[in-house]
Amino acid sequence: MPAFKTLDDLTDIAGKRVLVRVDLNVPVTDGKVSDTTRIERVAPTIKELSDKGAKVILLAHFGRPKGEPVADQSLSLIAPAVEEVLDQSVAFASDCIGAPATDAIAKMENGDILLLENTRFHKGEEKNEAGFTAELAKNGDIFVNDAFSAAHRAHASTEGLAHHLPAYAGRTMQAELEALEKGLGKPTRPVVAIVGGAKVSTKIDLLSNLVTKVDALVIGGGMANTFLAAQGINVGKSLCEHDLADTARSILETAKTAGCAIVLPVDGVVAREFKANAANETVDVSAIPADAMMLDVGPKSVELVNGWIEKAATLVWNGPLGAFEITPFDKATVSAAEHAAAQTRAGKLVSVAGGGDTVSALNHAGVADDFSYVSTAGGAFLEWMEGKELPGVAVLTKG
Ligand code: AMP
Repeated sequence: MPAFKTLDDLTDIAGKRVLVRVDLNVPVTDGKVSDTTRIERVAPTIKELSDKGAKVILLAHFGRPKGEPVADQSLSLIAPAVEEVLDQSVAFASDCIGAPATDAIAKMENGDILLLENTRFHKGEEKNEAGFTAELAKNGDIFVNDAFSAAHRAHASTEGLAHHLPAYAGRTMQAELEALEKGLGKPTRPVVAIVGGAKVSTKIDLLSNLVTKVDALVIGGGMANTFLAAQGINVGKSLCEHDLADTARSILETAKTAGCAIVLPVDGVVAREFKANAANETVDVSAIPADAMMLDVGPKSVELVNGWIEKAATLVWNGPLGAFEITPFDKATVSAAEHAAAQTRAGKLVSVAGGGDTVSALNHAGVADDFSYVSTAGGAFLEWMEGKELPGVAVLTKG
């Protein structure tokens, strides 16, 4: 990955207006922020800039308001939680461009923090419209992007601004990019990937890319059933996309050509109902009963997976090995996660995980903090795993 500038390159910024793109798209229940993880992630960048005396102007989106103001998607709802996490007062402007923004900025002292209203209240944001971007750019001297999770979108506040203002990666963006570089960019080999989750259909690009990059690919979760079925194994009532048999076979072919070992389950935990503590049994994959579904990979498979984790110097992980939300079908995911965490703690493994359910699965296993890096970016992390260029990152690394 080409070099990008970081906050280390921003020294003399006292009094400068720094537009900082952050991810404040946090879950809200009954009008209250129910999980502040994303705010905590961007806090170091905001604090560092504020401590250096910059006027810190936060840009963010919240929800999908489709280019118009929507009351319950106002960032004013998030401002108190931002203040709480930062332990510093945060002013709010009712629009991200025009008089409300410029008036609020005019009142700022060095080190002050201002949150501008949801950028997606304007159609120009998602369209990356030149006029809107120029309006945003007027309010700043410097652009810092700390929202890796929005970097797969070429929007005005994630990509456009970098064409108007000197652009830098914030600390979270920097950490994410450095971790991803270690994961797949320039990884220490052998590299093992674990991909699980429900369906092949949502992860075709990801699987196709990984088999050309990693030394071994472990396939688990519901999607393993599609691969097993494509090889003539009867998977009973298991979640399975039979129409993707050709796709699955072609991914296996690509893997063979690229020299990537494919690790599929050899046994599974099957049940007749998709519910917690459903009666279950462990069978080899060749003996899945016609009326049962595989809800987790079995102990022999876990041993195989853990063996690959031991061989690996680098591990990238997306998706659970089983239906981890319901016991006892969380066992394989928890066991492999614990093993990866132990190897990481012992300094033998660089482990990078991310994407939606993976974070909950690792939290469920209680090991998220032991991984080298856990990305909270959903779509952006997956697009990175798919080998796609992320516009918000590309623009930071050019020029
Ligand atoms: P994804 O969002 O694609 O990573 O899928 C995650 C979901 O896959 C979780 O909700 C799991 O419960 C589900 N899942 C994992 N393994 C299985 C399985 N063997 N059968 C059904 N669902 C599964």
